[in-house]
Amino acid sequence: MAKYIFVTGGVTSSLGKGIFAASLAKLLQSKGYRVTIQKFDPYINVDPGTLNPYEHGECYVTEDGAETDLDLGHYERFLNIPTSQANNVTTGRVYQTVINKEREGAYLGKTVQVIPHITDEIKRRMLLLGQTGEFDIVITELGGTVGDIEAQPYVETVRQIRWELEEHDTLICHLTLLPYLKSAKELKTKPTQHSVKELQALGVMPDILVCRTELPLTDDIRRKLALFCNVEKNAVIQALDVDTIYQVPIEMQKEHLDTTVLQKLQLPSDRIGDLSKWHVFLDKLRNPQGEVKIGLVGKYIELQDAYKSIHESFIQAGATNNVKVIVEAIHSEHIDEDNVQQKLGHLHGILVAPGFGNRGIEGKISAIKYVRENNIPFFGICLGMQCAVIEYARNVLGMHDAHSTEMNPDTKHPVIDMMEAQKKIVNKGGTMRLGAYACHLERGSLAEKLYGAENISERHRHRYEFNNTYLEKFENAGMKATGKNPDSGLVEIVEIPQHPHFIGVQFHPELKSTVDNPHPLFVGLVKAAILHKTGLKKTSDVKGKAVEA
Ligand code: GLN
Repeated sequence: MAKYIFVTGGVTSSLGKGIFAASLAKLLQSKGYRVTIQKFDPYINVDPGTLNPYEHGECYVTEDGAETDLDLGHYERFLNIPTSQANNVTTGRVYQTVINKEREGAYLGKTVQVIPHITDEIKRRMLLLGQTGEFDIVITELGGTVGDIEAQPYVETVRQIRWELEEHDTLICHLTLLPYLKSAKELKTKPTQHSVKELQALGVMPDILVCRTELPLTDDIRRKLALFCNVEKNAVIQALDVDTIYQVPIEMQKEHLDTTVLQKLQLPSDRIGDLSKWHVFLDKLRNPQGEVKIGLVGKYIELQDAYKSIHESFIQAGATNNVKVIVEAIHSEHIDEDNVQQKLGHLHGILVAPGFGNRGIEGKISAIKYVRENNIPFFGICLGMQCAVIEYARNVLGMHDAHSTEMNPDTKHPVIDMMEAQKKIVNKGGTMRLGAYACHLERGSLAEKLYGAENISERHRHRYEFNNTYLEKFENAGMKATGKNPDSGLVEIVEIPQHPHFIGVQFHPELKSTVDNPHPLFVGLVKAAILHKTGLKKTSDVKGKAVEA
């Protein structure tokens, strides 16, 4: 049977529960344990798929096509193993299941209540992955903060699970904040004490306290926290602010978090963990040999979390190339034909971001025209690829009103159009082309060179597609479809072979970039940016050779 670790949060939100859970998982994984992480979100949306990125950051898509919380991205980037629908549960999904069962008459005339029916459904889902036999340890992150009304059924379920299972089969890590009061020159423990009390009032006792802090914890503070919060002294873990999230597993290791956790779960704790690959990555991240500037052209620029996976992919691709990637976020709404040179001229590469709707579209198209004509490395993702197709149709093929039917349903040249299967769909949630699809790459293409393979699989999240009735015209004019779905023939990748580095993809490669496996398309763009900076032109000319920026 699997062991269950629960991660709760107190005092404030945004403490980094997701990064903490991923870091703990990484340490346990490095010691040979099979670990997975799941997130339970207390909001009523069935999934975050219909949420505006400004509300909730990026929507992360899993292999099996679930639209999930962005923390699952951290789990995958750290652990390098895929998550699935089962790894993200919301209150909406729990209630939906219970209400559907009630309509089917499954409760045999009983009154359906939060306790036991909702908590039973939460419990079923919390234990599910641990019952597959695939994992030794399941870490469950509870979204929100202890004390929130909507978090109560989750804490109650954790209490019940603790009561039902053996003592050493479950563990609770409670993440809190120790604020530093400048005037008193002191770290304050009171908010932590209160949040632990709040948990205890719900019948749940934390085993480990993880304290976010700007300053190191003194021995006195550790003792005080242990005494007043009823945990052992070695279970007070200091979580100092660090310069990169990838340092957190190392900091947790220094605090012996993994050993403490394993001992409490009565699992062998003396195995030597292997974090050598992680250290190599951190070393490269900390010691870049140069830097490149890449423009991220999008419309959700105000919020970093909206493009979380893209930012992380650049960090990983930079380390792989031994450079620091400075990502300059540029609002597509502020770009036009007149200012594009001034906005983009100094950059070594451009990524045009995914997105929905008309806002900022013309700015994206102007940016692509500029980089295409000026041989600046280009990478378009999903809507970014669609914009590259529209730009080429308008400015090279002379179809002046070419557009996607998402933006202009009446265009004479619908070069991007809705998929047939999508046209009948009315519901918005979970109905896009979602999850992993196969893609066949053309031999000799830039994509095939970068991937080093002819058959790949990537994750999708979109309703619109390249309109194949225009394919011949595009190919004759120099824009090639170099990646296609082998079953449907849908175009998944376009390239301009005459350009030093111009590639647009219909899928989301950023979702598959991990520390252990940085994504080849990001690695390729950074390499092309280095070459652009050093004045060389073709990525393929120097592939495999070291380049200095
Ligand atoms: N809005 C586009 C579509 O639905 C692109 C989606 C995206 O960029 N993820 O096809």
